[in-house]
Amino acid sequence: NLFNQIQEAKGNIRVFCRCRPLSKDEVSAGCATVIDFDAAKDGDLGILTGASTRKIYKFDRVYTPKADQVDVFADASPMVISVLDGYNVCIFAYGQTGTGKTFTMEGIEQNRGVNYRTLEHYNEQIRDLLATSPSSKKLEIRQASEGVHHVPGIVEAKVENIKEVWEVLQAGSNARAVGSNNVNEHSSRSHCMLCIMVIAKNLVNGECTKSKLWLVDLAGSERLAKTEAQGERLKEAQNINRSLSALGDVVSALAAKSSYIPYRNSKLTHLLQDSLGGDSKTLMFVQISPSEQDLGETLSSLNFATRVR
Ligand code: ADP
Ligand code: MG
Repeated sequence: NLFNQIQEAKGNIRVFCRCRPLSKDEVSAGCATVIDFDAAKDGDLGILTGASTRKIYKFDRVYTPKADQVDVFADASPMVISVLDGYNVCIFAYGQTGTGKTFTMEGIEQNRGVNYRTLEHYNEQIRDLLATSPSSKKLEIRQASEGVHHVPGIVEAKVENIKEVWEVLQAGSNARAVGSNNVNEHSSRSHCMLCIMVIAKNLVNGECTKSKLWLVDLAGSERLAKTEAQGERLKEAQNINRSLSALGDVVSALAAKSSYIPYRNSKLTHLLQDSLGGDSKTLMFVQISPSEQDLGETLSSLNFATRVR
């Protein structure tokens, strides 16, 4: 229930690891898999780094390629719900291009990801609230609260038109592809950041809380091939690397409860500042490929994730 979900969302930084399936091409090329999911249910992920060497990484959750969008959203939803309770939340997907960042956040038409499910979730809550008589609904909501006089936020009708918000977000996401003849090529070099402002009203005392939910599909974390390392492309790659490592620095400083959090080292972390740290909740999806050919990038993503845990 909602109460348990909120309790479960208490920790401030969560790291979930999701591995995509081998693609058809990889299967037909006979690509080997280097991922070992034996302990996935305990949050452990094994990587075969050599013939007889296995490295173990620990996460809050590990998703095998079989996990579906519903499973993933079920685990992300406590974070999402805490936005209604006044917390700022930042959910982002990190990883090499082609590992499923956009699949996790945006999803595909027939199989929507976190962004859509989040908005749909709010929409359902709003509908529920409007459809039920306030008194009966209020009681139910009160059970979700932490303190006696505390009623978790209720979204005002003003925010009801989430379908429109979704359309705006979709337009933003489409705009990401403009100026490039190759969508994936372009998205691998840009961060796609959606910010949802949620105003929640306590029906008992009329107090409002305003919170932000950031849904971020980061640029690809892969290193630039040496042959490409020149001109504008190089500058762009350096900016991406700088912003991703600045993000890693911020989240790892937060995880280490450091007194200095280096928000100002990149525009990305500057923008996210009030949603990273303090009372805010952070969920990072580390997206990986199962293929042996991607082992180097996979290890570097897993090492990035280890820093922030
Ligand atoms: P990224 O955004 O990290 O570059 P994409 O989300 O575009 O990667 O994923 C690359 C391809 O793999 C897409 O065709 C996507 O539909 C597919 N894919 C990624 N993750 C999954 C998954 N968990 N299940 C099925 N297909 C996936
Ligand atoms: Mg993408």
